[in-house]
Amino acid sequence: MKIHEYQAKDIFEKYGIPVNPGRVASTPEEAAAYASEVGKTVVVKAQVHVGGRGKAGGVKLAHNSDQAYQVAKEILGMDIKGCTVKKVLVADGVDIDREIYAGVTLDLSCKKIVFLVSAAGGVDIEEVAATMPEKIKKIYIDPLLGMRDFQARQLAFELFSDPEQNKAARDLFKKLYKAFIETDCSLAEINPLVVTKQGKLLAIDAKINFDDNALDKHPELMALNDPEEEELDEIDAKNNGLSFIKLDGEIGCVVNGAGLAMATMDIVKLFGGEPANFLDVGGSSNPQKIVKAFQLLLKNKKIKAVFINIFGGITRCDDIANGLISASQQMDIHLPVVIRLAGTNEEKARQILSENKFTAYSKMEDAVREVVALAKGEQNVNNR
Ligand code: GDP
Ligand code: MN
Repeated sequence: MKIHEYQAKDIFEKYGIPVNPGRVASTPEEAAAYASEVGKTVVVKAQVHVGGRGKAGGVKLAHNSDQAYQVAKEILGMDIKGCTVKKVLVADGVDIDREIYAGVTLDLSCKKIVFLVSAAGGVDIEEVAATMPEKIKKIYIDPLLGMRDFQARQLAFELFSDPEQNKAARDLFKKLYKAFIETDCSLAEINPLVVTKQGKLLAIDAKINFDDNALDKHPELMALNDPEEEELDEIDAKNNGLSFIKLDGEIGCVVNGAGLAMATMDIVKLFGGEPANFLDVGGSSNPQKIVKAFQLLLKNKKIKAVFINIFGGITRCDDIANGLISASQQMDIHLPVVIRLAGTNEEKARQILSENKFTAYSKMEDAVREVVALAKGEQNVNNR
């Protein structure tokens, strides 16, 4: 679960990490009111669950309340990577000397907690990670031992020669680690952690993702949930017995079983396509689930073709076929649909489909070759 910067800052503050104060606003008037209360430069920041707000124009300075009004008006309602801005954080402006990166996450490749810092913090950290990985210092932490003093020192000496700042950094890193562990985060990140012109360390951005599997332990954190449109789709899917995760490709996938759904994404990629989603319609699918699956897929305008891949075990192929027919009657499926099915009630399914001008492959390879070609605007790769 993702939360907003202002919520993450509240949590960091509880753990004693210094943050710049601010207030959430959902109208330009509220933003202007805060600016006039503090009577100095403020920064107005879009509150959405995506990064790179600065580069997208979602973070702007305002030197007085009129400017705060103006800037908030521009940012509210803005679309940032598919998220509509409904709230802004108006925070006290900071004079920045240096921008540092500090983050704790899980390194899934070695199954360890990793603490990362870099002197090259700020809006270009992704590029630093990609092109100059040596500029990011990593330390692995054993959760049983916790973060040791020497580890905090190693990180701090990577960044600060000034003794006061070095000490403050050691303290801050341990607090960040504590927050990460105690609230069951999958990510706790400060980018940038700034050194102000006055020489103080301050978290001016805050990002927290919680591990969904641990949220039951933290009802107070669950209350922070404010899903974006896309996340709402995933929740909607879940409530309808589907597991759905949106991705960036152009081939919509409808599959039964998580294992086959993973394999389907693999084979799509192997044949040169990009999956638009992970979608598992579950074991015993009733036709209604297929209808729901198409409702979700059709919302994604990037999808160029749909791949239905079913292995009928408990799932009956005829249920899937009936689901597809109902979906095609209830909505305009303007996309090419390629079907592969095999297993329980396969023959019955083929009959239902052929009566409705659909055909189905039995081999995955043939089907995937066709769907990848269709998504690229090519036709008839299998000469059908
Ligand atoms: P992000 O782009 O979504 O990560 O948003 P950030 O909160 O990290 O802000 C992006 C950038 O805006 C930062 O790296 C800073 O350079 C700048 N910025 C943010 N707040 C302030 C501020 O109070 N004063 C100044 N001068 N710059 C700021
Ligand atoms: Mn940031």
